[in-house]
Formats: sequence, structure tokens, C-alpha cells
Amino acid sequence: MQKNNAVKFEVLHMPPENTVSFLVAHGNDCVIFDAWGRAADWKRALEERGLNLRAIYSTHGHPDHISAAPTLAQDFGVDWFLNNDDNFLIQWGNGLLDMFQLPHIQNDYKKPKNISIGSVEILPDIKMEIFNSPGHTPGGLMFYFPKYKILLVGDTLFQESYGRTDFPGGNKDKLFESIRNLYDKNLDNGTWVIHGHGMETSIGWLKRNNPFFRH
Ligand SMILES: [Zn+2]
Repeated sequence: MQKNNAVKFEVLHMPPENTVSFLVAHGNDCVIFDAWGRAADWKRALEERGLNLRAIYSTHGHPDHISAAPTLAQDFGVDWFLNNDDNFLIQWGNGLLDMFQLPHIQNDYKKPKNISIGSVEILPDIKMEIFNSPGHTPGGLMFYFPKYKILLVGDTLFQESYGRTDFPGGNKDKLFESIRNLYDKNLDNGTWVIHGHGMETSIGWLKRNNPFFRH
């Protein structure tokens, strides 16, 4: 049997539709970004694709970007990564999960491992750079795949606007600084941008259409 080394990227809109999740696979191994929704739905999605879960990453600690993460991390025995500056939000968000009729994150939930700015190989040959992106939350992160020109911006930047800063720990000055820092990275215009909510865009598209993504 030939070894399956295909690299795949997939945008997922898990029920109840709200947040954009992202799946990165190398062969039969995969990593989930922003595990929104129910753990059971994720298990089914992974099973359908014949994928083994290796890790979970969250762009930030809001409930709609982490709801399934602790349970999946626990049940699959994998690490869940989140910047620890957002740990205070993990259970704060239970009220919001009620609105979506999703289960609460329990007191004994599997704790995330801290990640911050740097570079990691999430799967063989798939290198990811991590950018700090505070403002929407204190511990916000962006994830960038240089080889594949893919960028996950979480809720820092939307199609034509930016993330709200009225939740605990939000800071508008820091958010705009994070947006400027991203602009200054001068990523290729063709870079595919995955937002925490809504359709995907590109760096070039944002330069043309998002009035906040410029100097
Ligand atoms: Zn958010």
C-alpha cells in the first residue's frame, strides 16, 4: 500500500452554524483550528474523512472558537493550544454556549497548553508561524502557513470590518495595532485569509475592500 502524503486544507462550518473552523491534514493525520460546535459532530466529521486528530489550536478563547476543544483534546488524548492570556475566557463563555444550546465547558475541562509568537511544525512538512494579535481578546493569535499562503486571522479582522472589543479584556488600540502589524508583514496579495466568521478573502482583497486594513 502506498503511503498517503497528501496535504489538505478544508474550511468547515460546523453546526450550529456560526464560526469558521479549519482543518489541516497530512495523509491521515489532522489538526483542527477553532473547534466550534459539538465534539460528537467533530468525531463524525473526522471519521467520515478517515482522519486521526493530532492537535487542536484556537485563535482565541471566546466560546465560539473553543466549544468542542477541551472534550476533543480529552477524548483523543491530544494537546489543545491557546494563548494563556485568554484562559480567563474559557468558562466565562458558558452563557454564550447556552444561546446555541451547546454544553457548558465543565470545571474539570482539559486545560490548554500555552502558545505564543513563534514557528511550529504542526504536521510533517507543514510549518506554521504564530503571530500575536491582541485586542479582540488579550491572547489573540493568528496562524500563518508560509508555504501554502494561508492565514487564519480569527476575529481580529473581518471582510470589511474588525473584531469587537467590548468583551472582557478587549482593547481597541491594541486591536488596531495588531491590524497594522499584520499589514506591515507585507504578505503576498494572493494569501488566502480565513476569518473567524464569514467568507474567506485574500490579503489583496482586504487591501481593496477593508478600510481598516491600510495605513
Ligand atoms: Zn471572538
